[in-house]
Amino acid sequence: MITRMSSLFLRTLRENPADAEVPSHTLLVRAGYVRRVAPGGYSWLPLGLRVLRNIEAIVREEMDAIGGQEIQFPALLPKEPYEATGRWSEYGPNLFRLVDRKGADYLLGPTHEELFALTVKGEYSSYKDYPVILYQVQTKYRDEARPRAGLLRGREFVMKDSYSFDLDDEGLARSYALHRGAYLRMFDRLGLDYVVVAATSGAMGGSASEEFLAVADTGEDTYVRSTGSGYAANVEAVVTPAPPEQPVEDKPAAQVHHTPDTPTIETLVDFLNTHGAGRTFTAADTLKNVLVKTRLPGETEWTLLGVGVPGDREVDLKRLEASLEPAEVALLEEADFAANPFLVKGYIGPGALQANGVRYLVDPRVVRGTAWATGADKPDHHVVDLVCGRDFTPDGTVEAAEVREGDPSPDGHGTLVAARGIEIGHIFQLGRKYTDAFALDALGPDSKPVRITMGSYGVGVSRLVAAIAEQHHDELGLVWPRAVAPADVHVVVAGKDETVFDGGERLAAELSGRGLRVMLDDRKATPGVKFADAELVGIPTIVVVGRGLAKGVVEVKDRASGERTEVAVDSVVEHLVELVRS
Ligand code: ATP
Ligand code: MG
Repeated sequence: MITRMSSLFLRTLRENPADAEVPSHTLLVRAGYVRRVAPGGYSWLPLGLRVLRNIEAIVREEMDAIGGQEIQFPALLPKEPYEATGRWSEYGPNLFRLVDRKGADYLLGPTHEELFALTVKGEYSSYKDYPVILYQVQTKYRDEARPRAGLLRGREFVMKDSYSFDLDDEGLARSYALHRGAYLRMFDRLGLDYVVVAATSGAMGGSASEEFLAVADTGEDTYVRSTGSGYAANVEAVVTPAPPEQPVEDKPAAQVHHTPDTPTIETLVDFLNTHGAGRTFTAADTLKNVLVKTRLPGETEWTLLGVGVPGDREVDLKRLEASLEPAEVALLEEADFAANPFLVKGYIGPGALQANGVRYLVDPRVVRGTAWATGADKPDHHVVDLVCGRDFTPDGTVEAAEVREGDPSPDGHGTLVAARGIEIGHIFQLGRKYTDAFALDALGPDSKPVRITMGSYGVGVSRLVAAIAEQHHDELGLVWPRAVAPADVHVVVAGKDETVFDGGERLAAELSGRGLRVMLDDRKATPGVKFADAELVGIPTIVVVGRGLAKGVVEVKDRASGERTEVAVDSVVEHLVELVRS
């Protein structure tokens, strides 16, 4: 196939788009792959659509290889299935909702667990029907709070979503393992540098869940990995190792100190150390109590929640939110403090929270027997040696404290280092949340019903276009891996005279005849413009047909390394075919 740039629907741009935050966004717009239509909404131009289709093809091949069967749902969906599972409200403002002319509520599908479960229920009845893996490659809609970075976080985007249906937990584990393998092969083939990290399973209550993150400083996800083992996890999923409990009997009694002007951890530690509270304190010896309010989907009232973390750490709101999902979390406003006078700002302790019925959750490091310096619930007062399990009893633990580089790895081997990534895939053992909602049962061999267990697995197909671009570009433009490039070779005709044009045409025709996808720059533009566009567009091999033709040579340039070689015209076709096939 030959694509002629003289007629290709393509206009490259010299200027960076004003709203571009990351290189992939800048380059995909400048190279004419996509155009913005609305916040988080992009149209695909010919080159962009080719890359998208190439990625889809690899995704489909790997899904088919594990026995997945492709089906397709509408994006426009009735409300009822999502009401049955509670997600109509749980999804909150992220869901695009609409009303039809008869007044019926609809939504644009953000993910399709409900529809797949209902469809399987409609078709299958016997245990002999299972297991089954179904998938679709489909447009999803989410009214993201912050659409950003072009294709990376859209409000309309393409996702491959698959769902497994099994009779028992072992079956689910097998389906999950199949997906994990398919994802590894998929992302390898796509030329990505990625990590697989442990993820939170959120409110869905599933057991195993992992995310695939493309390594990129521009990614929105922070993950940590251990220096001493293969451990890697999304920061939200890091489980803090709890220290051993200690006896409470031999601890000194709690003492309240007058600590004027010490509303911050720093001022408190300074005060304690200068006013001889008997020993040296660090911020890690203090217990910082952060007040938030939470609200479950469908609730109108907010509920106060106290979160206690060691004073040397901040509360990481994303971690707290992940721990409390699906509840919304908000910081307190002045009005909340005014309405709850027992909250003495800067001096809040466990005492007043528990006396006033405020749920109080602590960091896992706050175990029985640990002694803390913390607020005494009156201005300018703190209490020292307040012992957990003796002087206060938290209502439970919560993963809310920030995770820091150098923290011990939760698996006991090595310490943690942090990096950033782009979530490109997520695999998730859902369990029975959805099959319970729809009573999806199979009739077992003994004629008793067996509740089906489900897995759900997503790949951000359109996000992959940007994630790959994020990893494969340089200052001149895009540098596509062969597997996804919009063409195999980019033949640049550099010169005005007819013999050069004819030479380019002939080469393109021969390459196309050998099955290569050829981009032919046959425009009447200067060589400089053509070279710049070839670098920008990022096809892996550039062939320059120019002055050398008279001597019987053309120049073959590797887009990634920049390496140029002169190749004889009569052997260049073979050379290129080999290059592309290798
Ligand atoms: P994120 O944390 O990035 O919002 P998510 O946890 O909401 O992702 P899933 O619901 O697991 O994502 O969706 C499956 C996949 O779809 C993700 O792994 C990601 O690659 C992709 N995806 C999710 N939201 C978007 C979006 N707004 N734009 C593009 N791709 C997305
Ligand atoms: Mg999301």
